[in-house]
Amino acid sequence: MADILVLAETEGSEVVEATLEALTAVRSLDGDVHVLLVGDAVDADDAAEQLGAYGADTVHVAESDILNTFGPEAWGQALASAIEELSPDVVVASGTSKGNEVLAHAAARLGLPFVANCTVLPAQLADDDEVELTRIQWGGSLLEEARLAAETRIVSIGHHAVEAEASGGPAADVETIDMAIDADLARTQAVGREMAEAGVTLATAPIVFGGGRAVGSAEAFAPLEELASLMGGRVGCSRAVTNNGWRPHRDQVGQTGTRIAPELYVASGISGAIQHWVGAMASKKILAINTDPEANMVTKADYFVEGDLHKVLPAVADEIKRRRS
Ligand SMILES: Cc1cc2nc3c(=O)[nH]c(=O)nc-3n(C[C@H](O)[C@H](O)[C@H](O)COP(=O)(O)OP(=O)(O)OC[C@H]3O[C@@H](n4cnc5c(N)ncnc54)[C@H](O)[C@@H]3O)c2cc1C
Repeated sequence: MADILVLAETEGSEVVEATLEALTAVRSLDGDVHVLLVGDAVDADDAAEQLGAYGADTVHVAESDILNTFGPEAWGQALASAIEELSPDVVVASGTSKGNEVLAHAAARLGLPFVANCTVLPAQLADDDEVELTRIQWGGSLLEEARLAAETRIVSIGHHAVEAEASGGPAADVETIDMAIDADLARTQAVGREMAEAGVTLATAPIVFGGGRAVGSAEAFAPLEELASLMGGRVGCSRAVTNNGWRPHRDQVGQTGTRIAPELYVASGISGAIQHWVGAMASKKILAINTDPEANMVTKADYFVEGDLHKVLPAVADEIKRRRS
């Protein structure tokens, strides 16, 4: 049986959902699952309970003052030290920017190869020194076949490539690893993080109302805002919209925007260009509202309303309000 080491990504005092995705993904591998929890921001016992429920057997806490603030170099050294100490067959993180950055630093330190953003983790990854992997490139518009040959296989699983699903396991064991981290690695540290928005974000919203060029102006997004507020969702948009200055870039869905994975994506007046589609394709269901039944977004959607978004969206909002009153 293989030993698998998963890097826990944290945000404040929480382990992020992306790590739960990585733990779900490694269930396709036959092995003991170890998690590296770096620093003291997250309570180790709480993490052991949470991560155990997603299949972790042991949580190893990497302790050093330098690690209590995120820094890619120091975290990379911590992961490299954990790899040397635990000798895992496979090392996994979620393919977020943080996950990939730390894996890349650790791999470079150890002189090991690293394959980022895999679509799945095939069972052979745990057993064979040489394995074929498919990885997501260019935000999803290109799938690349890769061969990884190494005694220690370091990979990241694409963010949102799998859905986090609890396995119902017991709390993981907790062990501590004292780390001797080079003091000069504190030269790159995240000294402040300002959340641009609180609560439901575009990336986590259960429902996203996306508007494209056909919306026509910043003011014309009012019905989308109203629907998002009625349904507890968020407004998204295409790049045509951000290029026109109607919405800020943080609302953009796509290759150069945010990758969304809502239960429902309502795409209004959006043609579904590949660069937009790669950010929307993880949506569970898509409803397209478009005047063109041949539009790419329409052909990929689960539901389609053929019509003018300026009439359809206010009518939907009115109907929701009527039913709730
Ligand atoms: C390197 C690169 C990166 C890019 N990154 C992104 C990205 O991250 N995200 C992104 O979105 N784009 C991105 N793009 C741009 C992308 O190629 C498209 O140009 C863009 O997505 C088009 O936006 P749109 O669908 O809103 O507009 P259009 O393509 O103009 O589509 C408008 C749609 O509205 C429909 N329509 C017209 N009138 C109505 C109406 N009254 N009611 C309902 N429907 C109507 C039309 O039938 C059409 O389907 C990128 C491009 C490049 C080159």
